[in-house]
Amino acid sequence: MTAGSNPLRGGIEAGGTKFVLVTGTPDQKIVARHSIPTTSPAETLARAADWFRQQEPVAAIGIASFGPVDINPASPTWGHIQQTPKSDWSNCDLAGFFAQQFGVPIGFDTDVNAAAIAEAQNQPADTCLAYVTIGTGIGGGVVVNGAPIHGAAHPEMGHIYPRRPQNDRNFGGICPYHGDCLEGLASGPAIFARWGANLSDLPTDHDARGIIAEYLAQLCHMIFATLSAHRVVLGGGVMQTPGLLELVRAQAARLDGDYLPGRAQHHICRPVHGDNAGAIGALLLAEKALDQALNV
Ligand code: ZN
Repeated sequence: MTAGSNPLRGGIEAGGTKFVLVTGTPDQKIVARHSIPTTSPAETLARAADWFRQQEPVAAIGIASFGPVDINPASPTWGHIQQTPKSDWSNCDLAGFFAQQFGVPIGFDTDVNAAAIAEAQNQPADTCLAYVTIGTGIGGGVVVNGAPIHGAAHPEMGHIYPRRPQNDRNFGGICPYHGDCLEGLASGPAIFARWGANLSDLPTDHDARGIIAEYLAQLCHMIFATLSAHRVVLGGGVMQTPGLLELVRAQAARLDGDYLPGRAQHHICRPVHGDNAGAIGALLLAEKALDQALNV
């Protein structure tokens, strides 16, 4: 059997706290799904490989990884995680490991670019869409005309410096690189660091909600103002907080001040694919890698 005749694809959403593993059809219907905690690279990758061996064989594997990662196909370290605060994972050759284990084409991109690809799939072809996850960290990916933006490396978005609201000036932020960048101020761990709880566990009238909504609205406004994006999709654990999306929308509208051209086309949304946006994006990366391998 050739790789291309195998009906299933594999997808890996490699996150800082868990790896989501899926098999799926060529049109990204998820057949099997499993999740494992992210521990050491050796243990996590071995458990992921074991799970795939227990499934129907796959013709290609797409990896949607937390970053920073090397996604330049011409680079000798393509498919590696780069220097990361999760230091065990620095320089881990994710793509090489699965290529060596399974001998199939490997697709590779950031978790958020993959999620953006998945979320843009059913939008008009000329859509500009950003996907931002707000969870353990904050990261964003962008798709324009169906293709992810890579640029010199890949978009980050979490490490911008937002304007600080009056009632949040005494917290230094937790980013090890920047202190009070967006990730240092509005990620799940940053929320926990200054209020001792997850946002969803704080009282609905707690100042934290307005403060976090303000930061996320600044990011959405920046994306609209710099990329003219049609859609900013907000995912990740922090966005599970009831009412937060609506607060972000309201504050983004206030920040815009009725200025931006085409503002009626700027939308702030939840992921259509919910928690599966990254995994479905990984299956799309697998499909693309398979197409490229078969058309060489
Ligand atoms: Zn930072």
